[in-house]
Amino acid sequence: MRKKLVAGNWKMHGSLAQNAMLLDAIKAGVDGLGCDVAVCPPYPYLAQAQSTLSGTAVAWGAQSVSEHVDGAFTAEVSATMLADFGCRYVLVGHSERRAMYGETDVLVAAKFAAAQRAGLLPILCVGETLAEREAGMTDLVVFRQLDAVVEACGIQALREAVVAYEPVWAIGTGVTASPAQAQEVHAAIRSRVAAVDGGVAGVLRILYGGSVKPQNAEELFGQCDVDGGLIGGAALVAEDFLAICRVAN
Ligand code: PEP
Repeated sequence: MRKKLVAGNWKMHGSLAQNAMLLDAIKAGVDGLGCDVAVCPPYPYLAQAQSTLSGTAVAWGAQSVSEHVDGAFTAEVSATMLADFGCRYVLVGHSERRAMYGETDVLVAAKFAAAQRAGLLPILCVGETLAEREAGMTDLVVFRQLDAVVEACGIQALREAVVAYEPVWAIGTGVTASPAQAQEVHAAIRSRVAAVDGGVAGVLRILYGGSVKPQNAEELFGQCDVDGGLIGGAALVAEDFLAICRVAN
């Protein structure tokens, strides 16, 4: 039985004052939950997350990471720096990074590897655009994104990682994949991994992301291959985020 994970991606939102309220409310609301919970604020607020959440059931992580260990890479943040601030997770390959910042499959795989070298759990985001879905290319795209990591890091690396299936057309749009659509892709991802290593496939957590709300979380998380959610907009509202966590419980 895989323990569900609900991770909040705050994107470039928040302030010290807003985060203090959000973090306090989340911290107060997670007691007794049986799922894993994490928040991913912007880099400058990781210290705030660390000081507020240390010793609680809520983990924290970053939204990206450099593929480099250190050096002359202005504005980049290394995985060891994230580890210094107590991060447990880091998103890699979010569709906004792929689409707006030109992150390729190879680069995402390098970031994944860098995260693991520092002891972080990468959350590998994969997903197709609407045009790709309509062209019948969903599996092709998602497998390409997944395979790049497996080729670079090996199948066993997925034991210490999480995959998030996030159809690009569902992110921030209010349009959610139907539970059947989500299940179909999650099952395909798991089968792809199982074809190489059944043991890894059995323990791999595959989150769904894309307009998850308290109202649709139950049906989505009820699918047998959906192991929780990566939550954007609803992660900024404590009661919505907590309601989603309770569904995952
Ligand atoms: C995301 O940013 O990863 C995401 C899933 O956003 P939203 O929940 O707002 O669609």
